[in-house]
Amino acid sequence: MTFHEFGFTAELLEGIDAIGYENATPIQEQAIPAIMTGKDLIASAQTGTGKTAAFLLPITSRIIASPSSNNIKCMVIVPTRELAIQIDQQMQGFSYFTQVSSIPVYGGTAGPVFENERKSLSEGVDMVICTPGRMLAHLKMGYVKLSTLSFLVLDEADRLLDMGFYDDIIKIMTYLPKNCQKMLFSATMPVAIRQLARKALVDPIEINIATSKPAERVKQEAAVVYDSQKTPLIEYILKQKKLQSIMIFCSTKEKTKQLTRELKKLRLSVDEMHSDIDQSAREAVLNRFKARQLNILVATDILSRGIDIEDIDLIINYDVPHDAEDYIHRVGRTARAASEGEAITLVGEKDHRRFGIIEEFIGKTVDKMVIPEQFGDCPSYNPVRKSKNNNKKKWNSGKRNQGNDNRPRTDNTPKC
Ligand code: AMP
Repeated sequence: MTFHEFGFTAELLEGIDAIGYENATPIQEQAIPAIMTGKDLIASAQTGTGKTAAFLLPITSRIIASPSSNNIKCMVIVPTRELAIQIDQQMQGFSYFTQVSSIPVYGGTAGPVFENERKSLSEGVDMVICTPGRMLAHLKMGYVKLSTLSFLVLDEADRLLDMGFYDDIIKIMTYLPKNCQKMLFSATMPVAIRQLARKALVDPIEINIATSKPAERVKQEAAVVYDSQKTPLIEYILKQKKLQSIMIFCSTKEKTKQLTRELKKLRLSVDEMHSDIDQSAREAVLNRFKARQLNILVATDILSRGIDIEDIDLIINYDVPHDAEDYIHRVGRTARAASEGEAITLVGEKDHRRFGIIEEFIGKTVDKMVIPEQFGDCPSYNPVRKSKNNNKKKWNSGKRNQGNDNRPRTDNTPKC
């Protein structure tokens, strides 16, 4: 299905053409007509499926169709600053030939940033793409008028709840007019999301695209090693493959910093990304990585979701993520849209059982790499799996609770 079949205006189609989209992805084929009907929507769709355009395009089209005062017409709530910036950039592209305006509202402590946000919010902008804590701070000051808000999108809703934003979202809802069309997008549909949907949405259209599996095009491999073999193996892989764009995910920021230091010593083009790096430095690193001025980015899960960096050649999981969903999101950084990608997970001494659970969750046994002889003996893989259903349930619910306990409720920055 092409974008010309959705009834979009010529200037919006011009933006879509300029970006280079030709055919709609499955989530776009289903969500765009649904949103055009004006009904609420709940959609389960993983990142990488084209879900951002699935809501930005019909909303933009409807804003163009009914131009009105300068008041805010659409609010998109997202879990992280990076995602707010990225969605706003995408919006800038789509709306380039239209009159529809947007701003990202995501925080930052500097006075002028808040003042600029305040100015845009009170003078009027069509679309606000925001993190919940920051938006609430503005709402409490009284100058944001949402009486004409027509569209609310909760994007990456499972991540929003994992990060403890439930109360903030409910508070933001109290500022919205009754007839506002609400859309909820989530990679997973745990009970908490269903509860939120029951509270927030009215008779929603349901779309289910997510399969909780990495894209078929990702070549997944695991290296079963002793912990002491991990860094030398990464060095070996990097030298062998000589790739342009590589992301290495670590579960903690300490490990992220240490591995970055070690790779820098090898004179590799590498930098790090975690919550100890301030916002402007994070943006600078991300931009260098996107522009291919930096080959290797070592990051915590702060970057595993939502962020769209094109053409990452290889994902390396330094350790097995604590949550099967995080595995899917990390691996999903490669093979975006139609490209192909590769992901290698290092399964350390304590990771076997956890990786076995991930294999059950994704319904696939991941190929195990043959480790070169020079690394000496390696452990054999021993996942000691439990029964399928029990594992799947426990795995998710345990992590979600921990996540909520550990993360502050009002901070927009994931502390990983
Ligand atoms: P998303 O799931 O929204 O993060 O999108 C993932 C990637 O797919 C982004 O790079 C989008 O620009 C790209 N994309 C989205 N829709 C399309 C489309 N219809 N055709 C080609 N690429 C697309």
